[in-house]
Amino acid sequence: MPVYHNYVDGKWKEAVGARRRKVLNPANGQVLANVTLSSASEVTEAVAAAKNAYSSWEKVPAPERGELLFEIAQQLKQKKEELSQLLTSENGKPIQEARGEVQEAIDMGFYMAGEGRRLFGQAVPAELPNKQAFSMRCPVGIAGLITPWNFPIAIASWKMFPAIMTGNTVVWKPAVETPGMADAFVRILEECGLPPGVVNLIHGTGEETGVAMVEHPDIDIISFTGSEETGRQVAAKAGARLKKVSLEMGGKNAITVMDSADIDLAVDGILWSGFGTSGQRCTAASRVIVHRRVQDELERKLVERTKQLKIGNGTDEAVEVGPIINKKGLEKIHHYVTIGKEEGKLLCGGQVLRDASYQGGNYYEPTIFTNVQPEARIAQEEIFGPVLSIIPVDSFTEALKVNNNSAFGLSSSIFTMNVNEVFQALNEMDTGIVYVNAGTTGAEIHLPFGGTKTTGNGHRDSGTASLDVFTEWKSVYVDYSGKLQRAQIDNN
Ligand code: NAD
Repeated sequence: MPVYHNYVDGKWKEAVGARRRKVLNPANGQVLANVTLSSASEVTEAVAAAKNAYSSWEKVPAPERGELLFEIAQQLKQKKEELSQLLTSENGKPIQEARGEVQEAIDMGFYMAGEGRRLFGQAVPAELPNKQAFSMRCPVGIAGLITPWNFPIAIASWKMFPAIMTGNTVVWKPAVETPGMADAFVRILEECGLPPGVVNLIHGTGEETGVAMVEHPDIDIISFTGSEETGRQVAAKAGARLKKVSLEMGGKNAITVMDSADIDLAVDGILWSGFGTSGQRCTAASRVIVHRRVQDELERKLVERTKQLKIGNGTDEAVEVGPIINKKGLEKIHHYVTIGKEEGKLLCGGQVLRDASYQGGNYYEPTIFTNVQPEARIAQEEIFGPVLSIIPVDSFTEALKVNNNSAFGLSSSIFTMNVNEVFQALNEMDTGIVYVNAGTTGAEIHLPFGGTKTTGNGHRDSGTASLDVFTEWKSVYVDYSGKLQRAQIDNN
């Protein structure tokens, strides 16, 4: 049985004390491996290795760092199937989705490799003669990455690739549920010749290892993705230390279906966004806002198709809905469904799936409530499971209001054939991502990823926006006039 170890300064080793945690397959409860659990001393060791590597890594020209990323992306591509199978076994997501996630990491690698030859600054005219002015990006220093289990390689790549391409060195703590993916990812970095100390992998719990990272004085920036509750703690601790911090947190994403919509297309989008990854995506749809004129048709078609979804072990190519990550997640979903029975009308689902064919895995029936009030708990709180709340509305204006009536601000979608509604929705939906005639999931890596309000704190992952997280701007003025020239004074 494999034991996943830390990777510090180019060496694989177990944490002191040999404390371990079992890694379980959510599809059947089978023990897949053990993972070492680190304490603050391992974090200190990893930070020291990152600091030591920083002085040479930041001097490597960015195009050269980009070329290394290109090789890493090629390796990921070569190992796509192997990584996808591992991902399904650890995380449970159906194999097709696992392949999609690995592809996202490949895309991010190639994209950031190219950025190594851009990393644009601005060259601007100086306001005084014989003077040049320009800006350039510099690495922040030691980057602490804290990532969740639901996209163990995609989210890691959104952070890791821009961090190292821009010259930072990294201490990474992945989620304890998916350490195998982190191990496989770092082994590829190692095989491709990433110098020791540039990326250090530390396994452990959030409460111990994660906290030790956030509190470590030599980690200059924390890039975190996870729940709002954890994000608040990370922000408070990082803020007290004036540490740069980028947070990507929860969502309560809505799909609006207007009366002009192609209802069959909307049903496709709702099923994919609501029940894909068993609703365990930060961008998963959990609210459906429907115009009353098409409510009956939408509900009838949605329930019919939901009941046909194939639920089971994600290694089966035909499976559309896989298991929930763990028993705790399953209990949380069922708790909300119990609340939902008081708050709306249950149309389908609502049960933990326990019969023998589910082999003791953590399965939950795709569940739909209707006639839910916008203020209901199931329409406001993140459930992180296959549960949809349908909220009927009488107008487009009301739909927009309900869409924006959320503490979160990650993703919105609208199905309509009315071009005026499309552009109004683009302007007025107050989320970081908006889709038209598509569900709430499906981001591409070359645009910024993240949200407004309590979903984030103003930063974005992926795209060139991620460069803003991992670099500081330096503005440079070169005066070759041979005399003192005072800006704003000598030229006015
Ligand atoms: P989580 O907050 O429990 O854990 C995320 C990471 O933080 C893990 O590595 C965990 O070990 C660590 N952690 C936990 N407590 C910590 C602490 N006190 N200090 C430092 N680190 C700590 O989240 P999760 O259950 O793994 O992931 C699901 C959540 O992530 C959902 O809320 C989902 O919406 C969110 N998410 C957001 C995005 C996004 O980009 N907005 C993407 C994916 C997931």
